Amino acid sequence: MEIFDYNRHASDRFRQWRLQCPESFVLNIRGNTLMLHVASCGHFAFKEDEPILFAPKKASHHKEELEAWAREQPGKQYTVCRDCKP
Ligand SMILES: [Zn+2]
Repeated sequence: MEIFDYNRHASDRFRQWRLQCPESFVLNIRGNTLMLHVASCGHFAFKEDEPILFAPKKASHHKEELEAWAREQPGKQYTVCRDCKP
């Protein structure tokens, strides 16, 4: 599992991951909401010249790994993106 947190390089690393593994799965962590996406989802298409509000993410080639992690997080709501339907 790859972890992208608030580290200043995380958004660049995530961009690379998304280009290299567009078919992998990404769990976006925003407050108490965990949303599962496919890495190629348009929700992650940052424009290069815009400042990024980067939410922490976990990425994996195995959806089950992210689902299992999400289940272990107390008080978090697990949802699945309706656009990319992972
Ligand atoms: Zn999505």
